[in-house]
Amino acid sequence: MSRPTRAIIDLTALRHNYELAQQLTGGGLAMPIVKANAYGHGAILVASQLDTMAPAFGVACIEEAMELRAAGINSPILLLEGFFSEDELQLAAQHNFWLMVQNRNQLAALATVKPATPLTVWLKLDTGMHRLGFDPAQAARLHAELQSMPAVADNIVIATHFACADDLDNTFTDQQIAQFQRHTQALNTLSSLANSPALLGWPQARSDWNRPGFMLYGQSPFSHDHPLASRLKPVMTFRSEVMALREIVAGDSVGYANSWTAQRNSRIATVPVGYGDGYPRHAANSTPVLINGQRARLVGRVSMDLITVDVTDLGPVAIGDEVILWGKDLSANEVASYADTIGYEILTRLHNRVPRVIATSQAPVPS
Ligand SMILES: *Cc1c(COP(=O)(O)O)cnc(C)c1O
Repeated sequence: MSRPTRAIIDLTALRHNYELAQQLTGGGLAMPIVKANAYGHGAILVASQLDTMAPAFGVACIEEAMELRAAGINSPILLLEGFFSEDELQLAAQHNFWLMVQNRNQLAALATVKPATPLTVWLKLDTGMHRLGFDPAQAARLHAELQSMPAVADNIVIATHFACADDLDNTFTDQQIAQFQRHTQALNTLSSLANSPALLGWPQARSDWNRPGFMLYGQSPFSHDHPLASRLKPVMTFRSEVMALREIVAGDSVGYANSWTAQRNSRIATVPVGYGDGYPRHAANSTPVLINGQRARLVGRVSMDLITVDVTDLGPVAIGDEVILWGKDLSANEVASYADTIGYEILTRLHNRVPRVIATSQAPVPS
């Protein structure tokens, strides 16, 4: 017997979503983004599964890239934030990590290093996100500067990132694309623009290299229904089991601070999952939970290790019955909306305490 709280990972769904991303590139390449432990799904598990299909992976930092190398992932890995210190450059050369270059200090370091093999560099332009990257008006000059550096390989990619691509009515994305094209189309170089919402919703943003993250995990980046996003299949099922049941009478309260009080005689199921597992503490009363496939409502505060669910209106419920926190019939996005956040955050926050288990085999993932 062990605590029944698990994240079941459906690798068939993962491959399906990646294939859809590849199709949407229209002949370009799709680089799976596996930062933040593959959005909580397990970076090694996800990258191992996609390694033979994907030309390269993207992560946020060198520690994440090293973890994948140590696990035997041999594809190139792009460091989306580039390098933070010069000692990372030798490691990058040694391990075939690609570098996003987004500021002058990084350029200066590249101008002086002598790596054993030339580095693959992506040049980041700031087309309106105003977070990282260079002024697009400098693109030609910076590109020439990089080309002149012995430490930099010939295959330079020019990239940008969208601020509003999940809002299909927002023309800011068109402006970002236009600005990118104005300053780069005369350069003989590869380009990379699209994240998940852009790949799904902005065909003009597709280019040589595309960077899907969230969509690979089967979640829609949009708040409204979208025909392509509806073809995605959720990869994670976050599940547990009922561990206790009790009857309470009208006027009784449940959980810390007595924050929920029963208006009628009620049946309460207790489930061993809490914010210590990554279930959002701010999930409001009435957040949906599936028990035996039926929708029930969270009541009372989310504790570190437990939640309580009102099952009064469900059919028979017994200890050991299956509880789905999110998965196929209840999206992470929907649960997130009850906690005033987004699916990206709740997936990414799934704690290491939750075993990731491959669907069907039920075997724990070796770590
Ligand atoms: C995280 C990230 C992505 C992936 O974004 P999704 O919305 O998850 O597809 C792409 N590009 C960059 C630079 C990122 O940081």
